[in-house]
Amino acid sequence: MSDELDYQGARVRLKGDTLNLTDMWRASGSDTQKQPAKWHALQQAADFIGYIAGTLGKTESLLIWTKEGRGGGTWAHWQIGMAYAKYLSPAFHAWCNSIVRAHMERRATGNFQSQVIERLDRIEHRVDTLEQRLPQRRREITRTTRLYLADATLALGGRCPCCGRVDVVAADGNVLNAEFDHFYSNQLPSEDHSWLICLACHSNLTTGKLPRTEADVHFKSFQLRRAALMAVLDTESATGED
Ligand SMILES: [Zn+2]
Repeated sequence: MSDELDYQGARVRLKGDTLNLTDMWRASGSDTQKQPAKWHALQQAADFIGYIAGTLGKTESLLIWTKEGRGGGTWAHWQIGMAYAKYLSPAFHAWCNSIVRAHMERRATGNFQSQVIERLDRIEHRVDTLEQRLPQRRREITRTTRLYLADATLALGGRCPCCGRVDVVAADGNVLNAEFDHFYSNQLPSEDHSWLICLACHSNLTTGKLPRTEADVHFKSFQLRRAALMAVLDTESATGED
């Protein structure tokens, strides 16, 4: 991205962290004795460029080069441009010192901010990806669902709906030696996806000793009977019977 600064009506192009020395030369009055190539040929300039190259760890050809043709001219790293400005004239040097330096520092700050934002975006993306790989959080069966399941199980006889052999709800509604079980997944805690079963069945299902595919018929049977019971209760409440 090319940018430009204005010096008393003359433009000075900038690109990244480089300045167009030819523009600087024109802006400061086009003194033929002070063209970029003339400055570059001076020992003092060569020493300075060599020093900057060492500091930045770059070869000189990356820090100052000449492009032929339209839009061409000599381009150089802005620190080299500052040294050239000093050679051109005190007034031009003073201008570069404030305007060019401020521009380059703003640019460096802007770069830093966009780098930080880019890094944060990347971190956020990684966190999202990791979160997707982690197992989802377990959703507990609520107290309301537990009370409802215990009531329904009692209304259906109070036996474990899985094995049918053990009482899991006492006549007073208390749960006996039983556990509420998420039948499909611990992220599905509603009464449609859970049941109240005896400790033995719960343990067998949890350890896989009793495969869920085998218990499935019992779970579905319990859910069908529960739905039928609900339908009866709904009809009773709709007709006003006790
Ligand atoms: Zn059981």
